[in-house]
Amino acid sequence: MTTPTIELKPSSSPLSDQERDAILAGPGFGRHFTDHMVTVKWTEGRGWHDGQLVPYGPLSLDPATNVLHYAQEIFEGLKAYRRPDGSVATFRPDANARRFQASARRLAMPELPVETFVEACDVLVQHDKAWVPAHGGEESLYLRPFMIATEVGLGVKPASEYLFVVIASPAGAYFPGGVKPVSIWASQDRVRAVPGGMGDAKTGGNYAASLLAQAEAAAQGCDQVCYLDAVEHKWVEELGGMNLYFVYGDRIVTPALTGSILEGITRDSLLEVARDLGYESVEERVSIDQWREDTANGTLTEVFACGTAAVITPVGTVKTDGAEWTQGNGEPGPATMRLRDALLDIQRGKAEDKHGWMHVLG
Ligand SMILES: *Cc1c(COP(=O)(O)O)cnc(C)c1O
Repeated sequence: MTTPTIELKPSSSPLSDQERDAILAGPGFGRHFTDHMVTVKWTEGRGWHDGQLVPYGPLSLDPATNVLHYAQEIFEGLKAYRRPDGSVATFRPDANARRFQASARRLAMPELPVETFVEACDVLVQHDKAWVPAHGGEESLYLRPFMIATEVGLGVKPASEYLFVVIASPAGAYFPGGVKPVSIWASQDRVRAVPGGMGDAKTGGNYAASLLAQAEAAAQGCDQVCYLDAVEHKWVEELGGMNLYFVYGDRIVTPALTGSILEGITRDSLLEVARDLGYESVEERVSIDQWREDTANGTLTEVFACGTAAVITPVGTVKTDGAEWTQGNGEPGPATMRLRDALLDIQRGKAEDKHGWMHVLG
């Protein structure tokens, strides 16, 4: 399969510097989008073609477009950071590209070549480089690549046409007022993913399924849901948009991948960053009972969640049917903050990139 090149058809009316600066002064998350987007088409028999950088704008879809009915959709999320010298770099885009291929396989969609995925992100970031916030804080430009089935018709089958799109949105610091722990509701009756299901694919359907559980967490006074495994309702999986880590002194543990956990790139990176800092980092099963008991006996000192959006978020209070406990003194723990700073420093170009994770665009 050949890699399509991306034809440049830039906007003749991008936002003015003043308008863009006003947005960058308080971007929030996912509310504003840059001047451009990249699109690439796939058609059965022809493969990937017609790559274009075009002005950001609505997609026109027939009401019978397959994705609107049967949710054949996958997505990714990655960030571009401004470096001290003013250049811009994305974090491990090749890892996102490979995960996008794995998600595509699970949803019977065509695999986009890794090079095309990375090139599409590069072209968009290069054209909208002015949208990457200044170096210094935790602001970034969030990239959202996604793919939808665009064949028109109500037949249930893998579509014969797809559209790959990359859009970009400036993202403010996740914790503008300083890092604050989240409270979580460990649901005993809602599940996110079942063995053999699509929990290890990054697809919108998993998020649609999570909204009711999220509302139940809110009703319990909690910020986020923690999902347990679907068979025994016992093994800790993830938060539905973030993976989990347990800190046992200088040993840090993340739930082992079972097929129903999404393999986070932040999770994977932290296994290595932790080793670099002298921790022992391991993947193991962790049960909800062990979590409660080890917190009570003091061996489990900190718990945190991780993902591209927030990087690392400390977990404060945990609530489940008939039990409630708090990690440490309810404040962000020292290992959590040390790992958070170490990873953010690599991403922002402040620390040596010894793993070759940063993809510098100039
Ligand atoms: C994206 C995602 C994560 C975090 O993955 P990162 O690559 O670290 O951003 C965790 N869980 C789910 C369900 C996700 O969709």
